[in-house]
Amino acid sequence: MMNNIENLKSGDDYHLFISAQQESESLKERFFELYLLYTLSKNLNLSLQINSLFDKTINLLKDSLKIEDFCFMLIDDECNELKIWKANGNTYEAAKDVTFKIGEGVSGIVAQTGESILIQDVSKDERFLYYKGKLPDIGSFMSIPLRLSDGKIIGVLNIHKRVINAFHENDKILFNAIAHNVANAIERAKIYEKVQKESMFDYLTRLHTRKYFIESSHREHSKAERYDGIFSTIMVDIDHFKYFNDAYGHLLGDEVLKKVAHVLKTNVRQGDIVSRYGGEEFAILLPGTDKDGATLSAEKLRTMVEEDLPLEINSSIEKITITAGVASYPEDGKTVEEIIAMADKFLYLGKETGRNRVVNRVLDNQSVVDEKRVSNRYRMALKVARGVNQIQCIEIKIDDEIWKICTVKDISKTGFKGEIESDIKIDNIYPCKVILDSDVHIPDLFSIKVAHVRRVHNDRYQIGAEITDGQDSWKRLFTILAHSQ
Ligand code: GH3
Ligand code: MG
Ligand code: MG
Repeated sequence: MMNNIENLKSGDDYHLFISAQQESESLKERFFELYLLYTLSKNLNLSLQINSLFDKTINLLKDSLKIEDFCFMLIDDECNELKIWKANGNTYEAAKDVTFKIGEGVSGIVAQTGESILIQDVSKDERFLYYKGKLPDIGSFMSIPLRLSDGKIIGVLNIHKRVINAFHENDKILFNAIAHNVANAIERAKIYEKVQKESMFDYLTRLHTRKYFIESSHREHSKAERYDGIFSTIMVDIDHFKYFNDAYGHLLGDEVLKKVAHVLKTNVRQGDIVSRYGGEEFAILLPGTDKDGATLSAEKLRTMVEEDLPLEINSSIEKITITAGVASYPEDGKTVEEIIAMADKFLYLGKETGRNRVVNRVLDNQSVVDEKRVSNRYRMALKVARGVNQIQCIEIKIDDEIWKICTVKDISKTGFKGEIESDIKIDNIYPCKVILDSDVHIPDLFSIKVAHVRRVHNDRYQIGAEITDGQDSWKRLFTILAHSQ
């Protein structure tokens, strides 16, 4: 028997038997590896979010391959350095601030050459930097490039073991395949996130897009409809923006847009959605906010822009102002489209009545100012939550039948200061009438003498006016207004 075995051992058949057995072991291993890769790539293909993608990779590395310490480093395109993206718990905490230049340390060399490096005993390899001293407890180390299908290297996958000689040369093949799968999944997730972001955010101002605003408005509307809720919409438009572009060029125009966007974004509540609705128009959704709240909010934004954004250009100061319209659900409309249309209409009224103001309602049926019916304009009064009092504007008769609107900045017992788009003449006498919230007062006719004029914009002038005719009723008006504050 013994002899037989010895005979067998020394015979060719025995060697064939052993090598068949070894082959079957290695086949089994290969099969296991293929199965792992198949599962990984299936899972990664399902995952478009970077974080869940990482969780799936961890499960594979930890549970199936029993790897405790690993670390993904990605090349930061801005500084062209490897930075830790994800790592298992301890590694991340210890080394999260470590970066490698391309070509620096083992990871840097792998990122540079695209060739994986396996080091069985790191103490004998000077290239190994122990994550710049942050992780001294490493015996063997493998670094594999994260290579996309087009050959581009986006980072490295590092696997560490505490003991030396812990890897097989064959491990490289498996880990290369894993790294390739992960690299493509990361790239896919990044592209997905970018596309998502780009459809949610405007490229110039980084505000939400019109699409996102409309979708959010519909969501808010459904909630409000179901639970008897409320919401408001503010439409904002920059005043005389064409002038900025024409006078200073589009680049400065873009800067103004960014600045206005920043003021809007940083001065609303967290849940409010600020969007770039069109060129120089913005739309803000204020969930759970009624008309008064939204008007206050709009008025705050108007003031912030007026006060915070004067631009000094070629040693002259250009003031930036906005006009806003405020509409609310359900009082201004039943649908999102109706609310937006109403806010837009109020915005238009604000433009028509002098700009740099917030308009939230029309007090009579006459909604839009008609140039041909200019003499009837006084009948239209807009309630505006702003400034000193309830004066909306003062209309000044510039010429025969031409009435121009003067936006009031300040009033006193003897006159007022304001802005007007007309080349008004100093010392001239003009008839004028005051447009008020009609609940407060019935408009009177006055005469004014223009005491000073200063050009502030293209064809916009700041004026100071003294009441010449009708001083008594002006004083009476002033007293009423002063008390109504
Ligand atoms: P109003 O006070 O009546 O709103 O006057 P306006 O000049 O602002 O009005 P209008 O709507 O006629 O002009 C809007 C201008 O905004 C036209 C266009 O040149 C400018 N604009 C729109 N989008 C952009 C942009 O992305 N960048 C720059 N620089 N300008 C833009
Ligand atoms: Mg516009
Ligand atoms: Mg405009």
